[in-house]
Amino acid sequence: MPEQFVEIALDGSTMRTRELPSLNAPARVGYGSMIGLGALTPPSFVAAVTIAQPLFGALQNLPSRSPVESFMDNPGPNSAFVLTLLMTGAICAGLMGRVTGHFGHARRARIEWAIAGFLLGLAGIVLFFCLRRIPARETCEGCGRRRVVDRDECEHCGAPFASTSRDGTEIFAA
Ligand SMILES: [Zn+2]
Repeated sequence: MPEQFVEIALDGSTMRTRELPSLNAPARVGYGSMIGLGALTPPSFVAAVTIAQPLFGALQNLPSRSPVESFMDNPGPNSAFVLTLLMTGAICAGLMGRVTGHFGHARRARIEWAIAGFLLGLAGIVLFFCLRRIPARETCEGCGRRRVVDRDECEHCGAPFASTSRDGTEIFAA
């Protein structure tokens, strides 16, 4: 039976009765919170928690609930969470592919960074910029596009690094 909040006047008559929400009902998280959470949480973290939660429950002899049971508590917002999670992962993977291409990374490194972008989300992009200094760039004589100077060939057209023309200011060993 739900608990009630009853207002009683001084003469003993009931003025107002209100039903209080049941204390046992789990608080439902709405769509907005779940979408926000999905955008900010790294997918790898969600995978780790999904695996770890039933394990910890079993270790502590708690009644274990499968991830599917937990999901079905709040299926609508939870679906929105998973969708946002996957979309953010895909966007971060795409961004990593572009950014690493811009910095002249080889194909293999670009694929690895894209996977890191998917698994780590926004944290993967932050990690990339923390680990990597921004290389100097100059215009390629082969294709006219901006190329990084610390590679032997242009990352766009494969033209070899052109030797700089002498302008009379070269330093010679004595
Ligand atoms: Zn080029």
